[in-house]
Amino acid sequence: MERYDYITIGGGSGGISSANRAAEYGAKALIIEKRDVGGTCVNRGCVPKKISWHGTMLREQINDYASAYGLDFEEKGPVNYTELKNNRDAYIQRVHKGYASGFQSRGTHYLEGEAKFIDNHTVEVNGELYTAPHISIVTGGRPRLVDLPGIDLVDTSDDFFEWTTLPESVIIIGAGYVATEFAGVLNGLGVKTTQAVRYDRPLRAYDADIVEVLVDQMTKSGINLLKNHDVASIEKVENDQLQVNFKNGETAVADKVIYAIGRTPNTDKIGLENTDVALTASGHVQVDDYHHTNVEGIYAFGDVIGKVELTPVAIMAGRTLSDTLFNGAEPYLLDYNTVPTVIFTHPAIGSIGYSEEGAKEAFGEENVKVYKSNFTPMYSAVSEHRQSARMKLVTTGADEKVVGVHGIGYAVEEMMQGFAVGVRLGLTKKQFDQTIAIHPTGAEEFVTMR
Ligand code: NDP
Repeated sequence: MERYDYITIGGGSGGISSANRAAEYGAKALIIEKRDVGGTCVNRGCVPKKISWHGTMLREQINDYASAYGLDFEEKGPVNYTELKNNRDAYIQRVHKGYASGFQSRGTHYLEGEAKFIDNHTVEVNGELYTAPHISIVTGGRPRLVDLPGIDLVDTSDDFFEWTTLPESVIIIGAGYVATEFAGVLNGLGVKTTQAVRYDRPLRAYDADIVEVLVDQMTKSGINLLKNHDVASIEKVENDQLQVNFKNGETAVADKVIYAIGRTPNTDKIGLENTDVALTASGHVQVDDYHHTNVEGIYAFGDVIGKVELTPVAIMAGRTLSDTLFNGAEPYLLDYNTVPTVIFTHPAIGSIGYSEEGAKEAFGEENVKVYKSNFTPMYSAVSEHRQSARMKLVTTGADEKVVGVHGIGYAVEEMMQGFAVGVRLGLTKKQFDQTIAIHPTGAEEFVTMR
């Protein structure tokens, strides 16, 4: 039996950051990972997605905007996807190497294999036993599928990142981040794209005013958005194409169907039945506000707890937990209400804190005041492809504390981080207004709204 001070089951962003931080404090830390170092974000999520998004942004710049700036490109053909994928994969390989050297410099131990709990403090990997007084479950999640006829014919986001060529057409089922980002990426790469959502809009959890602009831009850019379309079945038809049969009687046909309807936590194959760790009704690991499970010495964070499934949230939880366990820091209360995020749609959406709807529910309608700005960013305004932008501040109380900052539009993805500091510090609308604008930018709208 090998003894460690700390074990993370899962070598994704959360597990790596937590184990590395522990090792920096001198703890003997072990990461156990069954698949690829870096987990979902690096291998099948944020990283390859963002690189693909960059590709589509470049294509959009060349095809839609360059000529307005006097740049004419003769070659406007389809994307050489194999080239894009190869470069994307090579980048990911470099990230893997970076992790390996980070482990080496800190003395973090890394083990490839599937970990299974034998009891509350022992795990088995490749037939060997490992024990530690502190173990974190950071096993993340995987794409969720539903049981309906023909479901075995569809692809998931994991499969998409394996594609070496692009199909001519695709139908994406789902209304969340993944489905909506994929719709933008595939459409932007020149694939005839349909997105089918069950209700009246995608991203229902996000501010409705912002999503309204997105839906308008999606339609303008050629995405076929099917609203109120719930899938009944999928079948193979002529030419190996797939037909999606919707419950409303309509059908749609494409070369590929991608399902992106949320994720399932990886809690079913890690031997949790041999421990006393409690799960929630949805199968996520149940934790308190400090990421402790009900079993002393076992912790969980990241996607496996199903709170806010974002890499930086897992990293923050993992590092602060190690600060507490191995460096005597006060337990850190992660504020899940001020998490900033960007959805890499076309254009991107940035969101921090409460949506207008969420704030009204949390603070009462009479205590919420909202400020909005609609404009066309200069970048696109000089062309015939004018692209809308909308910014929004959600405030509460007499002092108008800013509890929500939302935006959609050109370059919004690089605007939000600084404003997230302001929201976290509890700044008021007046303090936003007292900040001098940077002109001419889109970001200045956030400090000049009336
Ligand atoms: P989400 O949980 O965000 O969204 C999935 C949506 O699909 C649901 O909200 C639901 O919307 C719809 N849905 C559910 N069941 C069905 C069904 N049977 N048929 C059709 N639609 C269905 O999941 P994602 O997979 O999109 O993303 C998972 C998480 O990954 C996100 O929450 C996000 O935190 C993270 N992520 C972050 C990114 C970023 O930071 N840019 C990018 C990608 C993912 P409705 O009820 O409206 O139908």
